[in-house]
Amino acid sequence: MIPHRLRPRDDLGALEGYHSPQLQVSVRLNTNESPFAPPPGFVDDWLDAVRDVPLHRYPDRGAVELRRELGARLGQPPERIFCANGSNEVLQTLLLTYGGAGRRVAVFEPTYALHSHIARITGTEVVVGERRADFSVDAEEAGRLVAATDPVVVLLCSPNNPTGTPDLPEVVEAVAAAAPGLVVVDEAYGEFADRSALELVAEDRPLVVVRTYSKVWSMAAMRLGYCVAPEWVVGELEKVVLPYHLSVPTQLAGTVALRFETEMAARVAWLVEERRRLAGELEATEGVMVFPSGANFLLLRVPDGPGEPPGTRAGRLWERLLARDVLVRDFSRWPRLEGCLRVTVGTRAENDQFVVALRAALPEVVDP
Ligand SMILES: *Cc1c(COP(=O)(O)O)cnc(C)c1O
Repeated sequence: MIPHRLRPRDDLGALEGYHSPQLQVSVRLNTNESPFAPPPGFVDDWLDAVRDVPLHRYPDRGAVELRRELGARLGQPPERIFCANGSNEVLQTLLLTYGGAGRRVAVFEPTYALHSHIARITGTEVVVGERRADFSVDAEEAGRLVAATDPVVVLLCSPNNPTGTPDLPEVVEAVAAAAPGLVVVDEAYGEFADRSALELVAEDRPLVVVRTYSKVWSMAAMRLGYCVAPEWVVGELEKVVLPYHLSVPTQLAGTVALRFETEMAARVAWLVEERRRLAGELEATEGVMVFPSGANFLLLRVPDGPGEPPGTRAGRLWERLLARDVLVRDFSRWPRLEGCLRVTVGTRAENDQFVVALRAALPEVVDP
């Protein structure tokens, strides 16, 4: 008998999965990971800590130690911190708690595709605002959008993925003042930028700042993220998230990493300086334009020739780079990002290899 295949929920029918190809190449600059592994001292201390744990017991459900130490570092009480398996799970928990059928979330495109993806999975309708040509959020446009659509959550992303654009704290403050519900600022790349909305978090402001260990702390494999939010928000999130969702090794990784703050800060500073150098190389390359970035990646655009469909040359360029063993992220045919590729800041050798490959490939995309 042929088994009957159950269809997923009706509103999931049109959903596409998350697409970021994981190809085997020697220069992988497509997912904004840190090019550096965590310090060896971190790995030793973390493994020692894990060895001492009674593995037959459930983890601390409230992740008390991790939240206390993170809070101390951020100058926030632990009651304002919620941790989960990557910042994507933080966002999912926020939308499970405050989104759902009959509710709306507002995003400003182009932005991180997972924001609307997670919204749809939680049954939340997505309303779309436009960014300016320089990809910044216009507080007045945001005000008009929230007045017209009454979203429970406004999602900002600063610096914005994939454009690199940081939001001014004044803009975040203005959006939070205009929004009828929560304003969530995804600061996955916050430490690479010269501004943050973290200081704006307060009990009487409906603002949530989301951060992750994946990029800045070189711990993408570990899956640990958190948010800083008013206590009343954290209390609700705790009710919705699965009990014992954060494993002991993950919690320990979070606390042990904080002892290596100096090493981490040095990596961030190095990557910011290397981003500046790489941006300079791209600016000096004819046929590409590069956008200002406050993150550990750069967005570049390759204009098409007359009569060519949008994204033709950048799409070819992505293929020609791959042929040279360099993988970047292809946004060439995304609405509002036509002709764009995103490159993660890697090691100096990786970045040089990328620039050499780019300069060799560019003539090939003009007239293949
Ligand atoms: C990489 C990234 C994340 C990170 O997700 P994790 O689940 O913490 O690995 C979140 N938001 C944005 C905008 C990102 O680019």
